[in-house]
Amino acid sequence: MKAVAIKKNGSLDVLEQIDLPTPKPKPNEVLVKIHACALNHLDIWVREGLRGLNLKFPHILGSDISGEIETTGESINDLKKGDKVLLNPGLSCGHCADCLLGHDNFCRQYNIIGTLQNGGYAQFISVPRQNILPYPQNMSWTDAAAIPLTFLTAWNMLVNKAKIQPGETVLVLAAGSGIGAIAVQIAKLFGCTVIATASTEKKLKLAQSLGADHLINYEKKDFSEEARKITNKAGADVVFEHVGKATWEKSILATRTGGRIVTCGATSGKDATTDINHVFFRQITILGNMMGRKGDLFKILDFVNQKKLKPVVDKVLPLEKAQEAHRIMESREQFGKIVLSIT
Ligand SMILES: [Zn+2]
Repeated sequence: MKAVAIKKNGSLDVLEQIDLPTPKPKPNEVLVKIHACALNHLDIWVREGLRGLNLKFPHILGSDISGEIETTGESINDLKKGDKVLLNPGLSCGHCADCLLGHDNFCRQYNIIGTLQNGGYAQFISVPRQNILPYPQNMSWTDAAAIPLTFLTAWNMLVNKAKIQPGETVLVLAAGSGIGAIAVQIAKLFGCTVIATASTEKKLKLAQSLGADHLINYEKKDFSEEARKITNKAGADVVFEHVGKATWEKSILATRTGGRIVTCGATSGKDATTDINHVFFRQITILGNMMGRKGDLFKILDFVNQKKLKPVVDKVLPLEKAQEAHRIMESREQFGKIVLSIT
């Protein structure tokens, strides 16, 4: 099969087109013919190399996949060739206490498609039956592929961890990023007031079109001061963090007394400074989050089918342009997702 893979960790030029054997599904797996794979910042981290992540080269990146069933393993009889599917990106053992309690993202064997095992920058992938999701109604392959990872993560952060309530104010950092654009929509779905930050007027306008109530250009203004002004000096009830070092201290200042900061990443750096005085004096709760519970994607897809949540795709490029796709994501030029189309 045609694939874009890496034979070592490194910069853009380690992404190369190669032919690899088509995987064979195990009895409880399905072989999916891939039509689209959306990029995530995770792809850059895996390409560059993550400590403790020992890849088997050549390795195929890509976690967010849409496609159709090609063949099924012998113990599967409820899916057939040609069924359109979306893949749940989280892999877990399925039998430990955490998995059985529905916290599969706490599983000790948890990993994400495209990290430890091959991903979606290819024509085929074999995945466990439990990772198959129903396909969203009337949706293109590329829009569908833009859904799983960011929706699952933003949902878990806001709904399960921060427990957002109607009337609360949510400050979404970098609302132009793949995950920020989804966080704005989920916070609005739950009746919150949304303050969005972005680096350009164009991105802010797009955030507004997704429902953001207040807009802050963080290149021009101090976002924590602006957020406090907007909230009558109180600060936001919830700060949606994924930027890390560049914003962390200000995120703490932008949170109201008794408020919550929920974080899923540190794209600008991990060694941020935390002023502990602010954390305890103002009784701020810091919530860490990685991915979400597999079952929540079914609920999320119901909202997508009702048009209450929608994927935000900025650019579609052919698989062969994977290097260019990574370059765009690294430069943060996009609003929403970059998706690879695979034929
Ligand atoms: Zn488990």
